[in-house]
This record gives sequence, structure tokens and C-alpha cells, in this order.
Amino acid sequence: MDYRLLWDIHTHTVYSHGTGTIEDNVKAAAANGLRAVGIADHGVGHAFFGMKDEKVPEMRREIERLRRAYPEMAILLGTEANIIDRDGAIDLPSADPLDYVVAGYHFGAFGKEPARAFALGLVNRLVPAHGTGWERVRKANTARVLAALYANRIRVLSHPGAKAPVDLMEVGAACRERGTLMELNAKHMSLNAAEIRKLKELGVTFCIGSDAHTPGDVGRLEGPLQVAADAGLRPEEIVNVIPMNAKPEKGDLPEWMSSL
Ligand SMILES: [Zn+2]
Ligand SMILES: [Zn+2]
Repeated sequence: MDYRLLWDIHTHTVYSHGTGTIEDNVKAAAANGLRAVGIADHGVGHAFFGMKDEKVPEMRREIERLRRAYPEMAILLGTEANIIDRDGAIDLPSADPLDYVVAGYHFGAFGKEPARAFALGLVNRLVPAHGTGWERVRKANTARVLAALYANRIRVLSHPGAKAPVDLMEVGAACRERGTLMELNAKHMSLNAAEIRKLKELGVTFCIGSDAHTPGDVGRLEGPLQVAADAGLRPEEIVNVIPMNAKPEKGDLPEWMSSL
């Protein structure tokens, strides 16, 4: 049976380095039968393609306008914040209380200790997997992710383990405890079937994020569904996936989302 996403809250726009406008993503979501779409442009601390703090009010006004224009769709403003600092602080915009936060590790955000973050970013790229030093790097990355999960209300941990190796079981346990969804990302499929199986046994809840950087990718789910199937995870076990022909009821959206 065919499936589709019920909501996709990991999409990028021209406010970071996506190609579409907020409205383009909303239109694409509506065309794909989604009930909710979220804009999660890269955190303001990203040196190369972070969203701009001063543009956030403009983004909020556009979200408000689109909510009136597309009343059947829940339209949310979030961010994909960068996890980098040792104390768990993440790069949220200064003024707007966003509707939700996705967070993940990316090279290019340097936080409060830029030299240290830059060095860790380089090592993450250069140290061969499982080589000497790899375990230390993995520990440092894991500590940062755990600190961020406990210091913030993070709805979704994006592409866990991509771009920086972490101890997935430790991170999974923290996600479960904090009610954070672990993402099966359609652009960077960072989890393999064996890892998904172990995380499922641990009691982790999964969602799919398209990580769309173009409107055409909003609502994409094929890659993650395939890996989930390989792991024995049924589509029904992913919080935002429904059968193609199912008529979503209002209550299908998570409580926090429908109350916005
Ligand atoms: Zn990302
Ligand atoms: Zn992203």
C-alpha cells in the first residue's frame, strides 16, 4: 500500500539555502495531501546559510498570512537549530518564540567556543571511522547532543549521527526520555536498518522529515520508508505516516501542533 506524510516539519526555504519561498513549500505540501508543514530553516548561528535573525519577524508575518490563505493546513514556523556548544545552548533566534525546534549537528556553526567547534568539525570530517581518536570524537559529539536535548525543548533530532558520529543508543535513550522524535531523514539517511531496529527496541519514536531544499521534495518519504521496512518497522509505527487513501481526522495532528 502506498503511504504519504501527514506532516512534514523539516523543510527549507530561501530564508536559508532552500530554493522555494515559504508559500512554495505550503503549496507543495497541500498538493501532496499533507495536513501540516513546517519551515525549519538553518539556525541563525550558521556562518554560511543560517536564517537571519532580523528576517524572522518577516517570516512570522508571512506564516500568519498563509494561515489565513490556507486554512485547511497547519503552517508552522520553526528552525533547524545547530547543536554545537558544550553547555547545550542552541542557536535560536533572539525575539520570536518559534512554534517548534528541530535540531541537528552541522559543520558551519561555531557557537560560543569557535576554535573548539571548528576543530571538532574538522576532526569529524577527517578522522576515519573506527580509527584511533574516533571514539574520543564520538564521545565529544554525543555529549553535545545530550546537553542540547536536556537544555531545550527539541521536537525532532534531525539526521541523528549524520555529519558527526554519536553513540546512537545514548542519544536514543535521551530522546525517549525527553519526548524528542528521532528523524528518518529523506535527504541524509543517517540510520541503517540495524540501528533503527535497536532504537525501536529502546522505545524511540520516529518521524520522517523530507529535509526538502526544493518545494518538489516536500513530503518525500520513499527512502526512509524503505530503510524502515528493512528494519521491520511498519509505516504505522512512524508518527507522521498514513496510508495514501486514509482521510486524516483533525486529531491526527499531535496535540502541540493542533493547538497552535
Ligand atoms: Zn540538517
Ligand atoms: Zn535540514
